Amino acid sequence: MTPLAWADADLRDAPEAALAEWLANLQVAPLDIARGEMVQAGLARTGEARHTLALSVHAWVGDRGSLQHLFDQIATAFADEHAFDAAEVFPYARFVTWRQDLLDGEDAAEGRAYWQRYLAQAAALTPPRLVGRQAAASQQTARVRADESVDATFLSRIAACADTLGAQPDALLQAVWWLLLARLDGTGRFIAGWQHDCRRDYPPMQGAVGVFDKALPLIVETAPETRFADWFDNVDGTLAAHVEAQEYWAVEAPPIAAHLAVGFACHERPRRHGVDRQWQLAALPGPLPNFELALQVAWDADGAALSVHADAARHSEVAAQRLLMQYLCLLDAIVERPDTVLGALPLVGPRERELLLQSQEAVADVGAQTVTQRIAHWVAETPDAPALEAGEQRLSYRELDQRTARVAHWLQGQGVTPGAIVALNLPRALDLPVAILSVWRAGAAYLPLDPDWPEARRAAVLADAKPVFTIDAALPDASAQPEAQAASHITAPSDLAYVLYTSGSTGTPKGVAVEQGQLQNYVAAASAAMQLDTCRRWALTSSVAADLGNTALFGAFHNGACLVVAAPHEAKDAEAFACFMRAHAIDALKIVPSHLEALLESAAPCLPRTLVLGGEAAPRALVERIARLAPQCAIYNHYGPTEATVGVMVHAAEPGAPVPEQLPLTRVLANNRVRVLDASRGLVPAGGLGEVYIGGAQLCRGYLNRANADVFVADPFHAGERLYRTGDLAWVLPEGGLRLAGRADHQVKVHGYRVEPAEVEAALLARPGVRQAVVLAVPDAAGATTLAAFFVGDGEGVDGRALREQLAAVLPAHMVPASCTAVSAFARLPNGKIDRLALAASAPAEAPQRVIAAPRDALEALLADGMATLLGSGPVGVEDDFFELGGHSLQVIKLVARIRKLLQVEVAAGVVFDHPTPAALAAVLREASADAIALEQLAQTHRQRDLADESVGEAA
Ligand code: AMP
Ligand code: MG
Repeated sequence: MTPLAWADADLRDAPEAALAEWLANLQVAPLDIARGEMVQAGLARTGEARHTLALSVHAWVGDRGSLQHLFDQIATAFADEHAFDAAEVFPYARFVTWRQDLLDGEDAAEGRAYWQRYLAQAAALTPPRLVGRQAAASQQTARVRADESVDATFLSRIAACADTLGAQPDALLQAVWWLLLARLDGTGRFIAGWQHDCRRDYPPMQGAVGVFDKALPLIVETAPETRFADWFDNVDGTLAAHVEAQEYWAVEAPPIAAHLAVGFACHERPRRHGVDRQWQLAALPGPLPNFELALQVAWDADGAALSVHADAARHSEVAAQRLLMQYLCLLDAIVERPDTVLGALPLVGPRERELLLQSQEAVADVGAQTVTQRIAHWVAETPDAPALEAGEQRLSYRELDQRTARVAHWLQGQGVTPGAIVALNLPRALDLPVAILSVWRAGAAYLPLDPDWPEARRAAVLADAKPVFTIDAALPDASAQPEAQAASHITAPSDLAYVLYTSGSTGTPKGVAVEQGQLQNYVAAASAAMQLDTCRRWALTSSVAADLGNTALFGAFHNGACLVVAAPHEAKDAEAFACFMRAHAIDALKIVPSHLEALLESAAPCLPRTLVLGGEAAPRALVERIARLAPQCAIYNHYGPTEATVGVMVHAAEPGAPVPEQLPLTRVLANNRVRVLDASRGLVPAGGLGEVYIGGAQLCRGYLNRANADVFVADPFHAGERLYRTGDLAWVLPEGGLRLAGRADHQVKVHGYRVEPAEVEAALLARPGVRQAVVLAVPDAAGATTLAAFFVGDGEGVDGRALREQLAAVLPAHMVPASCTAVSAFARLPNGKIDRLALAASAPAEAPQRVIAAPRDALEALLADGMATLLGSGPVGVEDDFFELGGHSLQVIKLVARIRKLLQVEVAAGVVFDHPTPAALAAVLREASADAIALEQLAQTHRQRDLADESVGEAA
């Protein structure tokens, strides 16, 4: 084989790293195949009687096996010149001619048809979903690698098992690798690549040098109830059939590439030469580099070397190590009991179990002070520090203490005793936190009611919780109250702190009962995990009827900071929000991503230094936008259900780093346990998908008035402890933490509010004339979740619009579907269940045709266009009601921002709520404007520009 490029070096006195450097330099010098450069060799002298020989061949000239054979031949010749006869080596040219003859031969048609038939089944098949796989950010060619070994005893067990199953050990080793990936993938069907060296099949070709390796496609299909032995029999049969047809596989131009994502390669381990190991093979190439991820097995009688090789841009080294760990666990179980069904074979061995449990629990001392005791501490330490602000009103810690003492005393006078529940029907204002703390001083728990709820909702919640007292609309004038004589109640960790009602899948909301100790753990643990002690001015911008705002509310008081309560309009209007943030020098905010996204539509958005996003997934575009607007802002993804007290996991977005498609959750808050379990409540291995269960110090007392809720189960890994089954699905990340992956049930989040569609369905079914109802979550024009209801009515009489209005009278706004569509009947799946996908797709077809009233002037046209863009469901007529078309409060924020920007007029969100049609809105805007003609002209200018943009778009 000529010509040969040669490089030698004397590294006898060089530092150790010099050899690696020399090798690396050799490898980067590219062989120019066009000029006939096929082989390159280098010899470095590394000691008095030691050399390192580096051989590289062009990938078109030789493969891994060829290098191995070259090595054997060199070693043999070196030991005894006469022992090696070049003429005995099978020449590659003969292989090429033979193969060409095959392709021209009579079996060629059948051989090619074999692969066509096989690939027809593979159509639409994708590589396995591997959670560790990153979207490759760069075109780097670096590889990660993890190694393990199998000793002779284990290898002989493997061989014995393969023998019992009537197969070769390498087929068994391969099948187990595919099974591992299938179990992690979870879908049971994918395509993979088998790197096969045909020299193994043709004895005369032993020792040949050339390109014999092929990556044959393999369809992997598993069903959990199949016995391994049966499944393996099938795989082994396919491998044998592939070998028969291998020369007809189009190696140079394979018709697919999907099989190159995951691969498997198996070789015999290189021979050792010389008694005193004169020759030692230091390294051989890994599996084909076009595999993104592959397992390579090299074996001989002494055992096997296993290595997982992967593209470093896609997979981490930890992920590769975990795969090997799981592979060995699975292999061991299969060798022991090959008759087990696939779904019952374990992937989690003792070491993995230890790693998983370790990463799912965090233990730390969070102190013993409840929130009230922390406040008392600040009252003594920093009495004059600001504690609470709302608009112009301000209270220092001392004043807050005095105020709550008086109100607590008044509450006692109203019959409030320790252990009771007090309902708070208060708007978000200064009085609200005062009322909460006063209720606690009286030893009671608070039940927040949202003043925006319809009366019926409030009544239903009150009927269930039966509070002893309700603070309605406002607190009494505190200054008129006497100072409390009796010492205030000393809160104990087991005291009930609050009851929050969340949507219930049985049709009625359920009250989550959270104790002081659980809240205390949350506030302290969240403070530690997100450095909340550095935050001095927290904004409260959400309703306290859900626990999202508790991070701000109690995070501020726990840390002696100031809680700044945003007035309702300041959280519903982008401009007002920006002013609020600036005027109050807010440095910390907890908010739902979709809410923040709408509030950023201001001319000059303002973000805090600490931003906690929670309640729903934060879209990448939003996280990137925040990072652009405020590079100094520390962004946290925060997760947890109400039942586990606000939040149990966080992840700090890495400043300056590319934002992943979805932010993970990497840190468990102190004293919580966040487990990802499979259907039989076993630990899901790293890389697998399972359901999230939460236990530990923040697990709530339970639901009020509902015994034995089946969502609370025994913790299989901690005797005597409970876990809450969240219904959230998550991937277990090999690097630690998890990535949420939707729901195991139908629960959805609408603007961060939790909604059980079943509750909305129950409300629909309670309306006269509704026979059947289905509520689905559908994305709006901006991709945010909204609800779409479908119903089958009794005869004609039931109208979707009227139904929607009736629902608005009983349900909170976020639970009212954007549309209620009548259908004649629900399409069913073969199992009798309603076909929800078909229903979602059928929606527009069944919607009645509306008459679209055309705009009469530019202002109306601009407003109608603005609404249509936000709704994303076709043109809006000037008499159409924005809310009846499904418009919601976050879209109002954006609509107002747009009107303000384009027309330069002052307009409050409330104006849209009061004048929801383009015609009515245009009329009030005109009325309020000092110069209606100028307004119309401005609208005209924007219209013309929009139309020009559209025609440019069309022309383009
Ligand atoms: P809630 O009880 O209202 O706090 O709702 C809890 C549910 O909201 C969780 O079970 C998740 O489905 C969802 N959720 C909460 N935080 C996040 C987050 N950071 N990312 C994605 N979903 C979340
Ligand atoms: Mg929550």
